[in-house]
Amino acid sequence: MTLPQFTYLAPTSLEEACDLLREHQGKIKIKAGGTDMIVRLSHRAVKPDYLMGIKKITGLDKISYDAKSGLTIGALALLRDVEIDPDVLEHAPMLARAARATATVQIRNMGTVMGNVCNASPSADNIPTLVAMNAVIIASNGKKEREIPIDEFFLGPGRSALEADEIATAIRVPATSAATGTSYQKISARSKVDIAAVNIGALVTLDSAKKCSAVRISMGAVGPTPLRGAKAETYLLGKEINDKTLAEAGRLAAEDASPISDVRATREYRKLMVEVLTTRALDEAAGLAAA
Ligand SMILES: Cc1cc2nc3c(=O)[nH]c(=O)nc-3n(C[C@H](O)[C@H](O)[C@H](O)COP(=O)(O)OP(=O)(O)OC[C@H]3O[C@@H](n4cnc5c(N)ncnc54)[C@H](O)[C@@H]3O)c2cc1C
Repeated sequence: MTLPQFTYLAPTSLEEACDLLREHQGKIKIKAGGTDMIVRLSHRAVKPDYLMGIKKITGLDKISYDAKSGLTIGALALLRDVEIDPDVLEHAPMLARAARATATVQIRNMGTVMGNVCNASPSADNIPTLVAMNAVIIASNGKKEREIPIDEFFLGPGRSALEADEIATAIRVPATSAATGTSYQKISARSKVDIAAVNIGALVTLDSAKKCSAVRISMGAVGPTPLRGAKAETYLLGKEINDKTLAEAGRLAAEDASPISDVRATREYRKLMVEVLTTRALDEAAGLAAA
């Protein structure tokens, strides 16, 4: 594997990194773990003059939780860190499941969850659960921070709402109560180490009468960006989760999916899998909410 020529930059602070982004605008790319970026460079899909590694920036690798602000996953937290972190396992176990479903353990020990998000691939494993949990991406230009709701973050395949001089510094995931459950479901041609043909994240909150008081469904690999199952969400609000409502929600989710046929699956198969996986995801999330 050969790479195109570039100058490698390794800033040690956020301020320095964002200054470099401004100085070399249009000619610079960011690298975290590099598991996507190095492949893109070797394919000549990108040919930057400068590659900026951000792993020397201190303080971006932390994962923390508090009941008020929820879970915070630093931009340099590895997929493997998220997979085994006690706070993630306790408070957002489906984020750990999604991290575990990503690539091999070797890749998970290099790649970051933020890299998976910023790469903005429609089939990324870690995006559907983050969308279902209504996460927020924290971005900084070295001078000021802003919060980008995840529903507004993805603009197209490989395109995010980050400005040219911004680095994503953390993912904030709101805390959930015991009345809320979540799920991550994925199907791919091979059962392990494969990119999703379809993946679904779901969040369900039940009220004291066991009716659905909040629901978010995120569908991956069935559109250019993660799609919400809006019709199914509207249908489920105020209803009990049972076999009949689950089947109807799955059917409505498939209506909102707009997949293409490609090497991984046909359009028809993807639609069918949205129905199956959405039903499974909602069933699991509701079961965990009731537990
Ligand atoms: C063999 C192999 C198997 C894989 N299998 C899977 C899989 O099963 N599922 C899956 O979803 N992915 C898979 N991937 C893709 C990849 O491993 C993940 O997307 C990983 O999480 C990327 O993280 P990274 O830190 O390596 O990102 P990088 O490659 O460093 O960066 C990815 C992109 O995000 C940008 N970026 C990274 N961090 C930031 C930041 N803090 N702020 C702004 N922009 C940033 C970079 O500029 C780049 O455009 C696989 C990759 C390989 C090589």
